[in-house]
Amino acid sequence: MLSQEVLLKQRAEILHALCSSGSSEHLERVVDMLLAQGELGWEDYQNVLVPGRTLYCNARQLLDLVYTKGAESCGLFFAAVKQVLPEAQGAGLFSSEFPSSSDDREKPQRTFTEALLTQRPSLISKLQGCLDGVLAALVESGHFSSSDCDGVQLPIHTPSQQARRLLDHVRSKGESAAAVVLQYVEHTQESRPNLEETSPTLNKEFVKYRKKLSSSVSAQSRFLSTYGGTSHMPLDDIYTDLHLELPNSSGDDYKSFDFEDIFGPVGTVNEDADTVLVSGEAGSGKSTWLQRLHLLWAQGVGLQNFVLLFPFSCRRLNSEQRDLSVKELLFQHCCWPDREQEEIFQFILDHPNLVLFTFDGLDELKQNLVDEHIICCPNQQAPVHVLLFNLIQGSLMKGVRKVVTSRPEAVGPGLKKHLQKEVHLKGFSPSGINCFVRKHHNDPNEAAKVLESLQANTALLGLCHIPVLCWIVSQCHKELLGCGEGSLQTVTDVYLMILQHFFQHHSTFKGAVGVNWLQQNLGTVLRLGQLALEGILNSSYVFSVTDLETCSLTESDICMGFLIQTKNMSLVHSICYEFLHITMQCFFAAIYTILSSNTGRSVIPKLFELHEMKKRSLSSACFYLPCANEHTISEDHSTTAESPNLQITATFASGLLSQRYRKLWFHCSSSVLLEKKAKQAAKCLSKGMQQHFKSIPQPVQGEKKSMHAMPEFVWLIKCIYEMQETRIAKDAMSKLEVDHLKLTYCNIGPVECTALAFVLQHLKNPVGIQLDNNSVGDVGVEQLLPCMHVCNSLYLRNNNITDESIRKLIDKVIHLDNFRKIALFNNRLTDACTQHFSYLLKTKQNFLSLRLGNNNITAEGAKQLAEGLKFNNSLQYLGLWGNKIGDEGAKALASALQNGNSIVWISLVGNGVGSAGAIALSNIIRNSTSLEELWLTENCITRTGVESLTQALKHNDHVKSVWLKNNDLSSAEVEKLQKTESRLVF
Ligand code: ADP
Repeated sequence: MLSQEVLLKQRAEILHALCSSGSSEHLERVVDMLLAQGELGWEDYQNVLVPGRTLYCNARQLLDLVYTKGAESCGLFFAAVKQVLPEAQGAGLFSSEFPSSSDDREKPQRTFTEALLTQRPSLISKLQGCLDGVLAALVESGHFSSSDCDGVQLPIHTPSQQARRLLDHVRSKGESAAAVVLQYVEHTQESRPNLEETSPTLNKEFVKYRKKLSSSVSAQSRFLSTYGGTSHMPLDDIYTDLHLELPNSSGDDYKSFDFEDIFGPVGTVNEDADTVLVSGEAGSGKSTWLQRLHLLWAQGVGLQNFVLLFPFSCRRLNSEQRDLSVKELLFQHCCWPDREQEEIFQFILDHPNLVLFTFDGLDELKQNLVDEHIICCPNQQAPVHVLLFNLIQGSLMKGVRKVVTSRPEAVGPGLKKHLQKEVHLKGFSPSGINCFVRKHHNDPNEAAKVLESLQANTALLGLCHIPVLCWIVSQCHKELLGCGEGSLQTVTDVYLMILQHFFQHHSTFKGAVGVNWLQQNLGTVLRLGQLALEGILNSSYVFSVTDLETCSLTESDICMGFLIQTKNMSLVHSICYEFLHITMQCFFAAIYTILSSNTGRSVIPKLFELHEMKKRSLSSACFYLPCANEHTISEDHSTTAESPNLQITATFASGLLSQRYRKLWFHCSSSVLLEKKAKQAAKCLSKGMQQHFKSIPQPVQGEKKSMHAMPEFVWLIKCIYEMQETRIAKDAMSKLEVDHLKLTYCNIGPVECTALAFVLQHLKNPVGIQLDNNSVGDVGVEQLLPCMHVCNSLYLRNNNITDESIRKLIDKVIHLDNFRKIALFNNRLTDACTQHFSYLLKTKQNFLSLRLGNNNITAEGAKQLAEGLKFNNSLQYLGLWGNKIGDEGAKALASALQNGNSIVWISLVGNGVGSAGAIALSNIIRNSTSLEELWLTENCITRTGVESLTQALKHNDHVKSVWLKNNDLSSAEVEKLQKTESRLVF
């Protein structure tokens, strides 16, 4: 097909791919490439990227332009788009017929300004790391004034936009300015590590060692470690981008966090620290992410600022019993230099900035990391956990960069203060799920069927945001497609599916009639279960052959594939085993807990014990770690057997004890015993809930009773969901009497939303549900719908929500009498959602508050909202802070609101509103009997606009204040205007 035809045919998809993230970065990068290739001229550039115009309009303009330029332009455009889009978004957009474009045109440049243009794409990426330095050089050489610098570094621009502004500005300053920039960038690149130059000690041996280390890292990271080597899946083929986020992130941080960004300035909280923590729940992809980082380095395609990379697994380090020095740790655990060990170690000591250490699974370390034994000397020997703590906190080998991964709960404040930054790993985004499933299945039809069945079962789709579950679902696609829509709902369902899958995969004979697959494999299940439970209680994740023998595991049990072979560092050549994944170990431990009669009465209550209260008393520890020695959970087990693993085990136990599975266990355990355990579990959950409710403080008189949930509350909710028993959910909610449920910063994603809705729908009275600062996303919003009838206010600030889920949400709440308020500050909404809010406003005449601040709403969106507002008589609060509605949008809103008499508070802060908008808004002041506050801070209103507002205020004494800080007014004007009207706030 001709590229022009493709452009027309796929116009909608291309626009979506370029713009749906809400960020203009993709579009701007495409424009950069076309500029560099000479396909676009400067005039085109200005016609395409018009400030203040919507992203979609700009993208359409570009499409029209390349279309009119002809087939060759379209081809280059496609090549640029392909290169710019993340894999997940580009997947399926175009076939391979459009080659990737090369970043910079290769033909020689005659002038510096020409070079600036042809190298634009790569310069923009290089400049981001050294913008301050380049600006200083330009100022020093007299090409830039300080106001030029301010213009470049406006904080509203992203680092790449700042780099573009710099290049555009330099272009207008001529040849010598361009030369300064090119020379500076070239010099910075040169000062990056160059082995031959950076170290005089660097000789052939070092190069050999580096090669040896990198081929060992490459060998360890080339294949995905799951599925016991039965399927050698190259990481390059299966790796799918993960969603990483900074704690307290603002909307901009939703951009995908590149591997290189990990060490960059974004998100840094402690500049003196060298350690970055990547935290995430079990199965969220931490090890795989780190494995990818290792592979990129070993393949020479990423992180090349580091000359040496030493990867460690904390799980394996547990088996190191000796005291070691750093040198021994590096060389014995990672890679042994065949010669010149001293020189090589000296190089490491002399060049810490060229070295990277990674520690996977800090939460699996057996010993506590405590601040008690400080060592600074790299030759001093110490136990591994002491070395680790000193390395992480920087007393040892200061300057060496470290990346550690851990589950979030495991890292205490004692360690956190030594972190450069923490990044949260949130698993797959919705497009990531799509991409992973397609990569996992060679047959596109099969992938399409799996994706279709996920779309039909949003609870399962929610689970697939967790990569390990996405992997299981893909692995078990036959079972998935065979078991009918909607039958898989819980994590337990998914793990039972893989259990069955493995057994059927290995079983050659069909069992006797009437004997189910579990009964047939009960021995194996119990033996693996015993091993798993003992491991969880002792924080053991690596098992020796003797451990296996103690639990009577046979060769054929091992062959089932749930255990994989691993290396044990301290016992050279000894074979050890670990479960496919920690969650699989928890699952087996849970099966053993419910089926075995040997576990004792206390095991269920101990599994469900609340750990948070105890943990808080130990909050000064750097790291919360287990130290159980007994094979039962001992009474003095304070914080010990690692609470996250016990909690996961308890969640599975809840699921397995559900009535739904009684039939499955029928011949596997005594039904009386099972019933007893199920009752015990239900009682523990109810008790746990009570404990939470009791901690709710009595409200101050006149205020609403509010409960701020702890993360353990969410865990209890998840256990109840796994049980899938309405009775238990009803019972749990019957005693909760609050007006407002606060679940901010609770790590709530789609899976948690499903569980919350299942339980909260049984609340007796409507409440405000506050889910700010979580990762609810569109799938999560959909999962929450079943509990909307008990929700009077929904707060979803900062939750990565796009227009996609808004329609469904509004379709649901529009008919619910209680639902009165919604706050969606700092999400990824655009004009596309405003028609739905407009419909809500038109239809729902008791709706009180709509807050859509810090999204991407422009004048078009404001016009849509105005359509709804014209017919609404109830809205009191309208928040549009930090959008881009401009004068046109303000005029539309003003015209809709000027005759209404409900609005009390309006915020149009930071919306590019000028005097024309302010004059229009004066009409609301003039006519409204309800308005009390109008926020117009950070706009571009001039004196004319303020005078109009002042005039209007003369007719209105209800309005308390009009906020006008940071507008286009001189201090003399402010002084004068302030005197005319005291309610104006400047
Ligand atoms: P964690 O270390 O957080 O427990 P893992 O990295 O072990 O999680 O991930 C569990 C499984 O999920 C992996 O074995 C793999 O099958 C799948 N997985 C995780 N991350 C990715 C990814 N980025 N791309 C593809 N598959 C992934």
